[in-house]
Formats: sequence, C-alpha cells, structure tokens
Amino acid sequence: MKRVSIFGATGSIGENTVDLLGRAAPGTYEVVALTGGRNVKRLAEQAVALRAEIAVTAFEDALPELRAALAGTGIETAAGTQALCDAADRPADWTMSAIVGAAGLYPGFAALRQGGTLALANKESLVCAGPLLLAEAEAHGARILPVDSEHSAVFQALAGEDIAAVERIIITASGGPFRDWPLEAIAKATLAEAVAHPNWSMGQRISIDSASMFNKALELIETKEFFGVSPDQIEAVVHPESLVHALVGFRDGALMAHIGPPDMRHAIGYALTWPERGEVPVARLDLAAIGQLNFTAPDEVRFPALRLAREVMATGGRAGAVFNGAKEAALDLFIGGRIGFLDMARIVERALEVCDGEIGLGKPLESLDCVTEADHMARKAAHDAAAVLTA
Ligand code: NDP
Repeated sequence: MKRVSIFGATGSIGENTVDLLGRAAPGTYEVVALTGGRNVKRLAEQAVALRAEIAVTAFEDALPELRAALAGTGIETAAGTQALCDAADRPADWTMSAIVGAAGLYPGFAALRQGGTLALANKESLVCAGPLLLAEAEAHGARILPVDSEHSAVFQALAGEDIAAVERIIITASGGPFRDWPLEAIAKATLAEAVAHPNWSMGQRISIDSASMFNKALELIETKEFFGVSPDQIEAVVHPESLVHALVGFRDGALMAHIGPPDMRHAIGYALTWPERGEVPVARLDLAAIGQLNFTAPDEVRFPALRLAREVMATGGRAGAVFNGAKEAALDLFIGGRIGFLDMARIVERALEVCDGEIGLGKPLESLDCVTEADHMARKAAHDAAAVLTA
C-alpha cells in the first residue's frame, strides 16, 4: 500500500487529488496526513472519507473547530506552521505539495527528507528556492515530480530523451480572461473579472495570477529551475484553447507536444502512478470536433509580468524569492481592493529594484533563511511601493 499525504487538501489541486484517491481500488493507498487552512469543515470530511491518520490546519485558532469535527473518529488533529512540518515528517511514499504560496515551502522541504516522491504543484517553492529544493531532494534520495500542467507535459515529452538534445521548451498560456483586452480596460479590471478564468477551474489566487500572466511568469522561472535549461531556451506562447500544455523542441528540429483536456487530474494522476500510467477519468479529446488550435506571441506590454520573469531568470540568486514575495503581497493588495490590476506589476518591479539595492538580487541563496529574508524584504518593499502609488 502506498502511503500518501496531501498538503493543501482543501484547495483546488488538493480536491482533485482527493478525488483520484477516492476512485482508487480499496487497499491502493493509505492516507497519512491531510492539511488545510480555513476550510476546516471540508478538511474534516476529507479526513473521515479517506481515513487519514492526521488532519492539520495551518491556523491555530481553527483547531477547536477541527477537533470538534473529528471527535470520536480516532483521527489525530493539529494546527500551526510547525504542525504542518511535523506532519510532513511522518513517513509517506508520496506527498502532494499543494499549499498556495510561499507557505508551502517548509512543509515541502520537510517531506523531501523522507526520501519519497514530492508531487509539486506549489510552483512558488521552485521559484523562491529552486537550487535548495533540488539539492535537498538529491541529498535524501527523494524525487520531485512536477504537477503544474505545463511542467508535467514537458516532463512527459522528455521521457527517454537526453536533456542535452533539447533546444527549447515552449510552455503555453491561455492568455486568461484579459487576453484580448486593451491596456486601458485591463487597468480597470475588477476582482470578479480577474478570477473568471476561461478554461481552468482553479483557486482564487492562481486564477488572478493567470489573468495578469504572473502565473506564466512563475512558470517560466519554474521551467528554468526544474529542467536546468538556460532562460533563452524557454518560451511562452498564447494558446487560447489550453489543450497543448507544452512543447519540447529537440536539436533535430522535432517538436514534441503534450495535448490533453484542461483537467488537473491528468497531471496529478500521472504523478500519482508514475512511472506507470494509471487510468485517469479525464475527458478524451475529439480532435476533429476541436478543428483548430491557435497560437500567438504573448504581449509583454499588456502583461509586463513576463518581462519581469526574464529579468529574474537572468539574475538568479535571490531574485525569484523577491519576485514571488512581492507578487504575493501585491496580489493581497489587489484582492483587498487597495490597488488596481496593473499596479501589481508596477509594485513587483519597484520591489525588485529596492531589494537589489538592499540585499543584492544576484547573490546566491545559501539557506532557507536567505529565502525567508528575501521574502520578508520583498513584501515590505511591495507595501512601501503601494503606499507611494496610492498616496
Ligand atoms: P487553493 O487556493 O485552491 O488552495 C490552497 C490550499 O492551501 C488550501 O488547502 C488552503 O486551505 C491552503 N492554504 C491557504 N493558505 C495557507 C497557509 N498560509 N498555510 C497552509 N495552507 C494554506 O490553491 P490551488 O489548489 O489553486 O493551488 C495550490 C498550488 O498549486 C499553488 O501553488 C498553485 O500555483 C499550484 N497550481 C494550481 C493549479 C490549479 O489548477 N489550481 C495548477 C497548477 C499549479 P483552505 O482552503 O482550507 O484555507
């Protein structure tokens, strides 16, 4: 029996993972830890349905509700950031890292120390601390499998290939809800408009990041970190149908494309059953009915996050942690109605400049403490920049 844990079980990726576990034949999986945040009711339901050993909420004030919901079930409960890392210390063969944001970093590191498989949806871990994460996996004989649909697609296209034969990696972007909007309209975009993704059903934060293309920016950086290719080998292309997830170009000119429906259960299921391919209940594509697939170059003027990602990739070191921390702070400000949609990119750009002066973005990341320091500094710089913008 495979022992599995899900960090961020109550979120969009977490629910899809729970769905797949629930469909598996009895005795296939033994669920160790399930974690969530504020949605304690759902976390308790999942823990009971999957007979988890322990349910953990990230927030200590939510523990009484979790305890009450699981009273008499024999399922252990815990709360807080340390409890998340303690849960990741419990032996598991496979761990889903699907907490949103930099909060997923420490539990992911803890899980790697088990030497099992970390299914990585939390792209922020690679953006903030890619070299440290990969080194930790190697030190403990652990394996990281990408769950982001684009990176799972690249991983699949690379199966049996030599990375040295790769010329370029192309990740696709739906373009989000503002794909065809003029700049003036994007500047006035509301929260409701930003979360309305045309193709994917995702959590609120990643949906807004898709609208601003900060999600694609994170994914460009994620590609560089995970596959170890140079920034000039990585491209993004807008593909409104979201059916081709990524393409790998080889030195003989061949392009291997991964095509599938926009359903995260494919990438999750692939990581869950890897190296085998299990059955996954996603829709099968009817290519004749689809008829055509479209591709256009992304517009870095309307979507400046892509340009910033190129600068971050070129700089390396602490730039990823600053970029992500500032982006998360700017996103919170947009969700809170404090800044406009395009202010997010302005704030991140300013935070990168300020933090470069203070800590030197290109300096290597020596430890997780450096990541935390860069993250905190970036959030402060973002708030300072927002104060100037909104004064
Ligand atoms: P959601 O917002 O739907 O879910 C996030 C999960 O993290 C929930 O379980 C939430 O708990 C929990 N959580 C929130 N804040 C904290 C915190 N401070 N500490 C610990 N746990 C917390 O996110 P998604 O599922 O959409 O995304 C998860 C990750 O996967 C992100 O990194 C995202 O970029 C990545 N990803 C997502 C895709 C998607 O299709 N959704 C596709 C590819 C990557 P609760 O809800 O109970 O508060």
